[in-house]
Amino acid sequence: MLRIVITGANRGLGYQFTKIGLEKGNTIVAGVRVLEEGGKAFRALKERFNERLHIIQLDVTKESTLSAAAHYVRETLGGIDVIINNAGILVERDKTIEDLDMRQLIRTFEVNTFGPMRVIRNFLPLMTPSGEQQAIINISSEAGTILNAFPTNYPYSMSKTALNMFSERLREYLKERGIRVYAVHPGWMKTDMGGEEAPYDPENTANGVYNIIENKVNVYSKISFIDFNGRPMPL
Ligand code: NDP
Repeated sequence: MLRIVITGANRGLGYQFTKIGLEKGNTIVAGVRVLEEGGKAFRALKERFNERLHIIQLDVTKESTLSAAAHYVRETLGGIDVIINNAGILVERDKTIEDLDMRQLIRTFEVNTFGPMRVIRNFLPLMTPSGEQQAIINISSEAGTILNAFPTNYPYSMSKTALNMFSERLREYLKERGIRVYAVHPGWMKTDMGGEEAPYDPENTANGVYNIIENKVNVYSKISFIDFNGRPMPL
């Protein structure tokens, strides 16, 4: 069974990754930005799965929480098999270049791009060969496609394009070690970020991503940017 670290695990897609991962028999390290608040989301899961669910504070913008989390995982689980970089923010949605608050642009990169990079820098040393399917999943977005349909969404789109580039570089770097790296578009989902009118359910996406992790579907292999069914996404 897999040992999986998930960021932004307390709601939306991250919560579904946590719940479904536990139901499949895996051990989940559920990272939450604010432990007191985020931890409440897991009451029922903790009762059901107890020692297979580890809830830890993990703010992807704060290096100290990441090194403490990695230390905890090393001490308690010995290592990990899968990283799911799920945490993300969407701010300054319809701002023009004239109106854009540059601090929000930087903040978005801190969470959506540098966050996954920090997580990987801290947890990659724990991905020693385990005989399990090893993978790094960076949750991206179709907004990261250069010719996308969101022309004014500067911070979010740019941060996800950069995440896609990082994922591709990392994929090359980790190929020899047998660690698969994907930047996954999860579809437009009904979450706090996606809103009620979204067509997809995060549960459906989480199941799709687990199929990719478990090698149960044909996954396009020429680039790392794919959708949750394993199909290639346009760069
Ligand atoms: P939500 O807004 O519902 O949840 C976001 C999660 O990220 C929350 O758990 C939040 O924690 C966490 N988070 C935010 N900032 C940080 C941080 N600094 N450190 C750690 N965790 C943080 O988003 P979704 O579930 O909808 O999105 C999940 C991923 O999917 C994101 O990467 C998003 O960009 C991507 N995506 C979503 C789409 C959609 O339609 N929903 C479409 C395409 C991509 P807290 O509760 O503490 O704020």
